[in-house]
Amino acid sequence: MISKRDIEDILNDYDLDKLKICTLGSHTALQITKGARDEGFKNLLLCTEKAAGFYRGFSVVDDVIEIDSYNDMLLDETQDELIDRNAILIPHGSFVEYVGPDNIMEKLRVPLLGNRLVLEWESNRKKEMEWFKKANLSVPREFKSPDEIDRLVMVKFPGARGGGGYFLAKSGDEFHKKLEDLNIPEHIKKEYIIQEYVIGTRFYPHFFYSPLDDGLELLGMDIRYESDVDGLARIPSVIQKDIEICPRYVITGNVPVVLRESLLPDLMNLGRNLVEASKKLFKPGVIGPFCIEMICTPELEFICFEISGRIVAGTNLFINGSTYSNILYDEPMSCGRRICREIKVAIERDRLNEIIY
Ligand code: ATP
Repeated sequence: MISKRDIEDILNDYDLDKLKICTLGSHTALQITKGARDEGFKNLLLCTEKAAGFYRGFSVVDDVIEIDSYNDMLLDETQDELIDRNAILIPHGSFVEYVGPDNIMEKLRVPLLGNRLVLEWESNRKKEMEWFKKANLSVPREFKSPDEIDRLVMVKFPGARGGGGYFLAKSGDEFHKKLEDLNIPEHIKKEYIIQEYVIGTRFYPHFFYSPLDDGLELLGMDIRYESDVDGLARIPSVIQKDIEICPRYVITGNVPVVLRESLLPDLMNLGRNLVEASKKLFKPGVIGPFCIEMICTPELEFICFEISGRIVAGTNLFINGSTYSNILYDEPMSCGRRICREIKVAIERDRLNEIIY
């Protein structure tokens, strides 16, 4: 287990003038490297051979370390090199998926932006729901057994699978048939959860919480573009009814969205409640970027079904700023740049230890 004290000792030996913003070459790496550049930091990417060629093609990337596989991120020699180079790691979706929240807690000695505990909470569905409940948010109804299914439900499996393997069912019989036909390992099949399918419009707001000023910002908002459910929507219903297909929810891209302005105060309250709940559940709570996946019903209620406690891929839409960040900042403020700004301000105020874990 890596303690906060271990990280502080390493960070205290860093040459802050030579600090490098570092992440894995995937997910939001271009945005993070550009954000580092814009805030006056050097950047460094850890890439597999395939990704290295791609990222080296961008002048915004300062340096690349090649590794054979993402697991090598945890090798002592890789970690020592990162520490020698005064690296601060920025966790993103692929980073958490490839390195794993347990490894981050137990083996990762390199200083990382944000509270490590949030990565454990966001990647465990039970903990996510506990967090939502503590923040008094509405969540979809969950059915304990397939026999209870009395409406359209979505059946989900563990792990950040980008919606892979999920299916819809309207009855217990349909549930059993679809589960049997599903091509995933048997042990994962047993870990299904049955969740009410909420009908409404989806919004995935990108928040940023700064503990330095106790400030919560809304930096942007997106909707996931999912295959093939979004593709199927283009087929007229008269033709759809003859197609035997089970729509999948595999994320393939993101599209921008804004929320009806009169709903923004409710949204900000919801974000604030999550911040305050996180401080009670896992001290010091969420730090920096987080995103809620939610559905707005015709009654204008937000139903939340997922949370990410780090930068999300939907922020890639707003490398030049979004409707919301443009109102907060007079300069293009991506989420990646906002992260680097927080690090810069923390250094100026001699408070880096409050945001690095
Ligand atoms: P990731 O970990 O990448 O966020 P995931 O595998 O956890 O993805 P979810 O985000 O839970 O998957 O769900 C995938 C998609 O399924 C959502 O983007 C949304 O379109 C749809 N979805 C999930 N839950 C519900 C629900 N309860 N009602 C309606 N649609 C839902």
